Formats: sequence, C-alpha cells, structure tokens
Amino acid sequence: MDEQKKTLCLSADREDDIVAAGRLLKNGGLVAIPTETVYGLAANALNGRAAAAIFAAKGRPMDNPLIVHISNLEQWGPLVTEIPPRAMELARQFWPGPLTIILPKSDLIPDEVSAGQDTVAVRFPSHPVARAVIDAAGVPLAAPSANLSGSPSPTEAAHVMADLNGRIDAVLDGGPCIVGVESTVLTLAREVPRLLRPGGVTPEQLRQVLGQVEIDPAVLNPLGEGEKVLSPGMKYKHYSPKANVILLQGSWQQYRDFVNQKAGPGVFALCYDGESDFLQVPTVSYGGRQNAGEQARHLFDALRQLDKAGAKVIYARCPEPQGVGLAVYNRLIRAAGFEVIQLD
Ligand code: AMP
Ligand code: MG
Repeated sequence: MDEQKKTLCLSADREDDIVAAGRLLKNGGLVAIPTETVYGLAANALNGRAAAAIFAAKGRPMDNPLIVHISNLEQWGPLVTEIPPRAMELARQFWPGPLTIILPKSDLIPDEVSAGQDTVAVRFPSHPVARAVIDAAGVPLAAPSANLSGSPSPTEAAHVMADLNGRIDAVLDGGPCIVGVESTVLTLAREVPRLLRPGGVTPEQLRQVLGQVEIDPAVLNPLGEGEKVLSPGMKYKHYSPKANVILLQGSWQQYRDFVNQKAGPGVFALCYDGESDFLQVPTVSYGGRQNAGEQARHLFDALRQLDKAGAKVIYARCPEPQGVGLAVYNRLIRAAGFEVIQLD
C-alpha cells in the first residue's frame, strides 16, 4: 500500500466507534483491533482483496497464512470441511481464548487467507471488543498481528500506530493486551495433533484433552537448510527490535558478571524485576523471574522500549521454556535470530 491513508484512532469505549470499525471492515477496509493476545490487523476473511491488503500493509511474505477470527461457534463449520470430535472438545475447553485450531479449509476461504495451503487456522477470541467488532462486521475476520512484518508484535494501540500509521484505515484502542503473546497454533490436519506455535494455552493443557501432542521442531530450533516448515510464520527472523538481541543462558550471577564486563555505549540488559540495581548498563525488565505470564505480557513492549532508548546490543535473560514460558522463549529466541551464549 503505497498511498498514505489517514488512520483513524477509534476508542473501544464508544459504541459508535465499534459500529464504525465494523462498517469499515465489511466494506473491505483494514482495522487494527485489540484481542487478549496482541492487537490484530483485521480484514473481511471472506474477501480475498481485503485479505491481500493486510499483506501489503504489513509487508508480510505472501506465503504466510492468516488466522480467521470468529465470534460464535456457528461461524466455524462453513470455514472448514469438517469439525472432528477432538476439535469440538478443544473448543469446549479453550474457546473463547488464545488457541488457534487448523483444519482442512472449505471453498469459502480465499487463497489469500490460506496463502495457498489447503487448511485454515481459526480462533474464537475471548476479548469482548474483538468479539463485538466481529459481530458488527457480520463476517469472520482474518487478523495477523498488527505490526510491520518482522518487528515486535503490538500489545497497545500506540505500538500499532508506531508501525502502521498511514497504512491502515483505523486502529481501535482497547487498552493493553492481557496475554501479550500470540495464540497457541495447533494443527489437527494430520493424524497426531501438532503444536506449531506455543502461546497462552500450554502443551500440558492440550495433552490433557488430546493425549498425544507433537511439538513441531521449529518451535525450539532454527530450520536447517532446505527444511520444510508447517507453519510458515515460524521460519522468519521475527519479533525483532532494531537492536541486536543476544540470549544469555546461565545463572543470575553468570549473567550479571557477563553483562557488567560488556558495559559500554549502546549496551542494554533485558532482565527480570529486581535485577537492575546490580547491573552497570541501562536495563528494561520484562517481569518476575518465576512469572512467565508476566514475562509474556511485557516482552514485546520491553523490546520496543529498548529501541526507543537507543539500544544497539541487548543482552537478554533467557526464560525457562516451561508452560507459558515456552511461548516467551520461542518469541525471544526468534527476536535474537537464535543467537544464544551459554554461560555455563
Ligand atoms: P500471526 O497472525 O501474524 O501471528 O501469524 C499467524 C501464524 O499462524 C503464523 O505463524 C502462520 O504461519 C500460522 N498459520 C496460520 N494459518 C496456518 C495454516 N493454515 N497452516 C499452518 N500455519 C498457519
Ligand atoms: Mg505476527
């Protein structure tokens, strides 16, 4: 999208603004909306041209499919060829909420949305504003994160404006997002369910419902040369601030000593709460050491703050890849382009 648009700032507190957002979307426009995970850049999911505009606004690679958002279970059936019992059981347990379920797609889904795949990813968000906008639009909404492709995902309306002002029709401000990282993506389009992206719903929770769940190798590891990835979004360097992020794996003492040795212009630390007093570089903290939920909520904002503060190199505390921490680790290791230093 080359021509500049005037991006309207709408407020989720105003009923009229929700109606306006719905109208823009129904007519093929692009509106960033709050969800419980991150802000999504929404378009009518049944309109291929509207969906194509999302890719242009974000600079998103065309082979990376979009998640379709619904506001009631009845909207799901027409989008897929079939809803198997295990999918229904997941919906009963985790919807509305931060879980995306992939199934074979129906002909209603334009190729732009599925990016040429024969499957479609669907989510029923819990955020009341997201649901109100889907209702107002009267159609399911395709919505990837509302950031420029590759940059940290937006968890506040101001993050959306920093990236997309002039490139989209409107942003609907509904305050900060509660989960803070994108949804868990699970494919049921194969025999054994497979986790493609970790998020607010954990592998442990999924296994309680499904029994066996495979973790896609791309969740934790960089792709090898020529390897095929099931979830195209996982193959890019992603979620990255402008500064160079390096993850440090080791104890707190090892981290502190390493970072203090490196102190110099442009060197910053991304640490846990309560650690800044012991570090001789400027810091931003992203939550308590034992609190993965808090880390998820603050990570993307922390990365944006570090850029604003002029960081050139960011030494980050490496999160524990357990529970919701798996999602935090997955995002941070991509922000770092898989650059990890073992301090042990
Ligand atoms: P985003 O909405 O920007 O957070 O990205 C959506 C994520 O879901 C990306 O990692 C996509 O690759 C993944 N995704 C969406 N639809 C599919 C699909 N049909 N098959 C596999 N992965 C998908
Ligand atoms: Mg994204």
